[in-house]
Amino acid sequence: MASTIHRVPGRPERCPECGSEKIADIIYGYFPSFEEPARRPGERRTILGGCCVTNDDPAWECTSCHARFHPPRGSWPAPPTAD
Ligand SMILES: [Zn+2]
Repeated sequence: MASTIHRVPGRPERCPECGSEKIADIIYGYFPSFEEPARRPGERRTILGGCCVTNDDPAWECTSCHARFHPPRGSWPAPPTAD
């Protein structure tokens, strides 16, 4: 696996790998009724990262080349609450 970890303080505007602006938010957890909302071109996308969470997961992903972006350690955005 030769994937590079990109540490960024916030959601990047563009993918540093391919230049795409299609950066998706990754959310974690178990969402049995999750349905990805219909999207129009240019809309942000949310993808599920699964329910196995470590302390160092990516928070965003390029939907063009699948490069993943990690926030600096200890600054993960607050997870969604499931209740
Ligand atoms: Zn990319």
